[in-house]
Amino acid sequence: ETIEDIRKVAERHNLTIATFGHVGDGNLHACVIMDPTKPEQWAELKEIGKEFIELALKHKGTLSAEHGLGIAKAPFIEKELGLSHRVMKTIKDSLDPDHILNPGKMGFDQTVRDVLDYSAYKDFIEGLPEVKGFGEKIDQEIFACLMCGFCRAGCPTYRETGVESKNARGRVILAYNILTGKVPLSKELAEKFYACTVCMNCKAVCPAGVGVAEIVEAARRRLVEEGYLPEVHRMLIENIAQFGNPFQEPPEKRTDVYPSTYKVKEAETLVFFGCVTSYQDIQVVPSTMDILDRVGIDYATMGNEEHCCGYLAYLTGSERFKEFIERNLERFSRYAPKRIVTTCAGCYKTFKELYPQHGTFRIEVLHIVEYLDQLITSGKLKFEKSVDRKVIYHDPCDLGRHMNIYEPPRRILQAIPGLRLLEFKENRSLAKCCGGGGGLKAFDLDLSGDIAYRRAAEAAEQGAEIIVSACPSCKSSLQQAAARLRKEKKGRLKVMDITELVAEALA
Ligand code: SF4
Ligand code: SF4
Repeated sequence: ETIEDIRKVAERHNLTIATFGHVGDGNLHACVIMDPTKPEQWAELKEIGKEFIELALKHKGTLSAEHGLGIAKAPFIEKELGLSHRVMKTIKDSLDPDHILNPGKMGFDQTVRDVLDYSAYKDFIEGLPEVKGFGEKIDQEIFACLMCGFCRAGCPTYRETGVESKNARGRVILAYNILTGKVPLSKELAEKFYACTVCMNCKAVCPAGVGVAEIVEAARRRLVEEGYLPEVHRMLIENIAQFGNPFQEPPEKRTDVYPSTYKVKEAETLVFFGCVTSYQDIQVVPSTMDILDRVGIDYATMGNEEHCCGYLAYLTGSERFKEFIERNLERFSRYAPKRIVTTCAGCYKTFKELYPQHGTFRIEVLHIVEYLDQLITSGKLKFEKSVDRKVIYHDPCDLGRHMNIYEPPRRILQAIPGLRLLEFKENRSLAKCCGGGGGLKAFDLDLSGDIAYRRAAEAAEQGAEIIVSACPSCKSSLQQAAARLRKEKKGRLKVMDITELVAEALA
């Protein structure tokens, strides 16, 4: 009956009210879904609040449930308690004639406060001159935060630091204060946003699905506009502009590990390795080429002409991302591939999701795990050799939560005879970051290393012999963590890219 009455309230005020509750102790939570930027909806909310009080009393409920009355409901408690409230008031008046103890509470002093008056959004709604929104979409994400703090369970930087300003909720609060001009931009403030791995774990555990990573990216753009791009990121981006990669490496080094048999050619399938693979995690290059050659795929690479996709510039809020898109679009137009297959999770997200937002990019993009999965399904890629190893798969954030690719890598691993696939306790959409995301590894190596260490330690606890990932950046972070574990005699783990394991299984 109460729920039915709540529905009628919703209809009367033309707002959605989501009602849920605790069956065991019989309490209901009726949540009004509203746009906090609209003053007229706040006016409706105040009326709804009063109607809820009438409803609770009508159905012989209580205004306080298991909580205190606070300030909002204090003036109404006499309606529920009647004579007993007057008795309590008499006792309170005799003990505290000057009303100095807990003033305004319990409805003893007849004060009615308008506590719902726009609440935290007052500055924004009144459009004060210092208010500078991030754009409607981001502003709405900020307003959607319930301040519940559930994101603490997901946020890897909070888990390591225990500091709220390095938790998703803390970052949302800081972003709101940037928006209203209450907190001046500073190096210290920038540090909170650049310490985020942009892993989106907060969104996976958030009851309101708040896009904190997008909020962080918007705050970073604002910080960059005002000159707070961290020096380390400025240097890396400058390197990309000058050398085509963040590591100051010469372009010709990209093909150092190509097999001597490789010939420059054109093909419908263009394999894009990315900078970390080309210069640091180089074993992925011959492994990928070996797999494709064995299956007989006609593919091309850009060799020395490959250029950084620019994801780091995007992540750190730099405008120069557009410049890197232009450079790559020009190169792609010369190769004119039908599809791009990349071994890097970051490049994959960048080409598949970000390039189409900024230009006329229309090429099909696949991550190597999707491509290999297709080859297995079509029967072109078959495994015969047994690989008797216990392997745990680490979901890269850029591939999993960002792009929703969870099953193809698992299907590939399960297709290898003898291989035993283990799972982290937190896997797929809840998988913890390797610590290297969002530019954190360059910005705060210690924090990044601690996050990776915890992830690798769990792999060892699960009894894995090999951690496999599908992103060279994850591999690099986890490899360093595995070395630390080994040094501390807490486990021996090998870390491999999925292409390396597949190539080994085919050899
Ligand atoms: S971001 Fe989500 S989980 Fe975190 S406080 Fe806000 S609503 Fe709660
Ligand atoms: S994106 Fe990751 S690191 Fe950043 S606030 Fe969310 S959970 Fe924390």
